[in-house]
Amino acid sequence: MLRDAVRSLAEAKISPHAAAVDEEARFPQEALDALVANDLHAVHVPEQYGGAGADALATVIVIEEVARACASSSLIPAVNKLGSLPVLLSGSEDLKKRYMTPLAKGDAMFSYCLSEPDAGSDAAGMKTKAVRDGDHYVLNGVKRWITNAGVSEYYTVMAVTDPTKRSKGISAFVVEKSDEGVSFGAPEKKLGIKGSPTREVYLDNVRIPADRMIGEEGTGFATAMKTLDHTRITIAAQALGIAQGALDYAKGYVQERKQFGKPIADFQGVQFMLADMAMKIEAARQLTYAAAAKSERGDSDLTFQGAAAKCFASDVAMEVTTDAVQLLGGYGYTRDYPVERMMRDAKITQIYEGTNQVQRIVMARNLP
Ligand SMILES: Cc1cc2nc3c(=O)[nH]c(=O)nc-3n(C[C@H](O)[C@H](O)[C@H](O)COP(=O)(O)OP(=O)(O)OC[C@H]3O[C@@H](n4cnc5c(N)ncnc54)[C@H](O)[C@@H]3O)c2cc1C
Repeated sequence: MLRDAVRSLAEAKISPHAAAVDEEARFPQEALDALVANDLHAVHVPEQYGGAGADALATVIVIEEVARACASSSLIPAVNKLGSLPVLLSGSEDLKKRYMTPLAKGDAMFSYCLSEPDAGSDAAGMKTKAVRDGDHYVLNGVKRWITNAGVSEYYTVMAVTDPTKRSKGISAFVVEKSDEGVSFGAPEKKLGIKGSPTREVYLDNVRIPADRMIGEEGTGFATAMKTLDHTRITIAAQALGIAQGALDYAKGYVQERKQFGKPIADFQGVQFMLADMAMKIEAARQLTYAAAAKSERGDSDLTFQGAAAKCFASDVAMEVTTDAVQLLGGYGYTRDYPVERMMRDAKITQIYEGTNQVQRIVMARNLP
């Protein structure tokens, strides 16, 4: 029922704008409005804070179905979870009430600020500093590649509080867009997910109350990594949705397109490609849903499974979208058809929330 509801909504309100959002590289406001109106913009927020209280599997299904229509738009529910999960996992009750309530209502979005210009895969090498000053912390630094920066009201920011301790000297904070000293860089000009704003976040002597720290001092990196264990599954879901969208489009196309006097769907070479695409998608789906169940239960092998789901599903998305372009021939290579957009959008799923090389490091360290 949830899938049907999200699919109908996405087909009616999100899909019609997907090409323009990509072409004009503009924020998918129509998608945000539709998601908020239907309480699908941050479904993971627990009911006690006014949220829909969706479990990890339901959240994955929402993201998958939105991504099937428009990958950029799927970053609304996905990054709302990524940005806010550190607070839900490690924040005080007061922080949860303060920040989850507006998020659930659709009054504010949440971003996640871990990466920096010189700290990507090696996130613990970050330089952003938070220095204690009485009842406050003062933050200085640059966060890079921040999804929904400028649109979000709230930012979970990881910063160094003790430079002698590397990852154990990093703490997490909630920073608000309206805090003095917060500003944003120009939107990045990207290959895909062009509707999702990616900008730098500048922190210039941002003075925030000490109670905005998420958890204890020095626990921020652990919280950030624990968050990714859960949210990599949402990237798997995004990849899955993009791949499904490409397969569904190609499936329809091959029945219409005629060459040699018959639909190209009649050729076994084409049928085998579609069969492989569907098989890979289904394998990715099973891995993703199983990982979502593990996320919900907090199973001990979640780290491996979340990395495996993200890595596998994103590789599948890249392969399947590339094959979809192939099945449309020259037409697939143009912007008159959606599959080239899906191919460009798929690429990012192999890169963010840890590249697929990093996922393999994570899996190798946590072999089942
Ligand atoms: C569109 C977009 C949105 C993003 N959104 C966010 C966000 O909201 N919040 C956030 O914090 N970050 C975000 N990121 C950042 C993203 O997570 C990083 O780009 C990613 O982790 C890779 O870091 P890097 O770009 O610095 O690449 P690098 O770490 O410089 O990696 C370059 C290459 O080296 C490889 N490599 C690095 N180390 C190793 C190793 N030990 N072994 C093998 N290979 C290795 C990588 O796999 C990659 O192929 C986003 C990025 C993009 C492009």
